[in-house]
Amino acid sequence: MSRTGNPQKETNMKAAVITAPGVIEIQDVEKPSPQAGEVLLKVDASALCGTDQRVLRGEKPVSVNIIGHELAGTVEALGDGVSGVEVGQRYAVQTVIGCGECAPCKAHHQIRCLKGFKAIGYAWNGGFADYMVMPKEGVDQGCLIPIPDSMSAEVATLLEPISCCVNGLRFFPFEEMKHVVVLSGGIIGVLNGLVAKAWGAETVTIMNRSQGRLDLIKELGLPFENLVNTSTTDPIEWMRKNTDGLGVDGVVVPASAKELVPLGMELLAMGGHLSIFAGMSKQDPCESIDLNAIHYRELHLHGANSSVRRDYEEAIRLIETGKINPDPLITHRFALEQFNEAFKTQADPAVKSLKVVLEH
Ligand SMILES: [Zn+2]
Ligand SMILES: [Zn+2]
Repeated sequence: MSRTGNPQKETNMKAAVITAPGVIEIQDVEKPSPQAGEVLLKVDASALCGTDQRVLRGEKPVSVNIIGHELAGTVEALGDGVSGVEVGQRYAVQTVIGCGECAPCKAHHQIRCLKGFKAIGYAWNGGFADYMVMPKEGVDQGCLIPIPDSMSAEVATLLEPISCCVNGLRFFPFEEMKHVVVLSGGIIGVLNGLVAKAWGAETVTIMNRSQGRLDLIKELGLPFENLVNTSTTDPIEWMRKNTDGLGVDGVVVPASAKELVPLGMELLAMGGHLSIFAGMSKQDPCESIDLNAIHYRELHLHGANSSVRRDYEEAIRLIETGKINPDPLITHRFALEQFNEAFKTQADPAVKSLKVVLEH
C-alpha cells in the first residue's frame, strides 16, 4: 500500500445504505471479503424494481440494509474451495436461494424450497454497492448465471425481471394463445407483454389507468397491438367489441390489486388462462370470486413467484436471438452516488420512467 495513498480506500467501498425507512445514504462501508465457498462480485450495474421501492420506504421489512437484486457483476475474488467460477467472469445473480437439500432445491427449483427460500437483497446484502458477496449456498446451488460476452451489464440487469415473467408465463399454452391482455403498463407489465409476444402471442393488449404510462409505451415503440386506458374505456366493453364477445386467451395480473383477478377472469374466453404474477397485500389478500365461472367456463388460474436458473437462461436466449429488444426499456441511468435521485425518478409517475439503472 502506498504511503501517500489513503489506506482506508483499499478496504472500503461505496454503498447505498438504508439508515431509516425512506432514508438512504451513500456511505463508505467495509468492502466484504469472500469467506470459504463464497464469491466476491464487483457490481457492474444494478437496477431498481418496484419491490425495492417498498423496502426503501419501509413497507416491506428485510434483514439487511443494502438491498438490490437486479444486477450484473464481475468476479473479483473467490473464497477457499470455490470451483467452476473464475475471476474476471461476468454473472447475473439468481435472487432466490433455497435450503439446497429438499427435492425442489435438488431439481434447481428453489422457489418451491420446502423450507422457504431466502433472497439476495433481502436476507443477504444486495447489489446497491460497489461489491457484493454471493453466499456459499448460492454458489453451491448454481445461482451465478453466466452472461454472454455480447450482453452489456445494464442489459443483464433486465435478466432477473424478465426471468420472473418467463416463469409466470410458462403455464400458458402459447400454441393456443392468440390474444393476451396484461393488466399493467409498468415495467413488469411491459416485460410480461414482451415475453408473451416472444413466445408467439399474436396480439398483446396493455391495459392501464394512466394515459401517461400508455403514451410512454407508445413513444418507446414497444411492439404491442393495443394500449387501452381503463380510466376512460371500460375493459369488458373493449373486450366484447374487440373479440366478438368471445374474450381473450390469457390475462396477466402483474399489479398488487386483487380486484384485477375477477376483472381478468371476466376478460377471458372459455378455457382461458390467468396468471397471478403479483403478490397481494399480506394484510388483505382475500378476494371473493365466482367459482362457477372457473368451473363452467373451464378457466385456469396460475400462480407464479420469482424465477430460477432455467428462467434466466431463457431470458438470455430471448435477448440474444432478438426476440426481445432490450434497448428501449432502460429509460434512465444514474451513478451509484446518485442513488436517491434514481429512487425518486423511479417513484415519480410524472417522470415517465420504465427501467432505472445504476451504473457502478
Ligand atoms: Zn425485482
Ligand atoms: Zn430447499
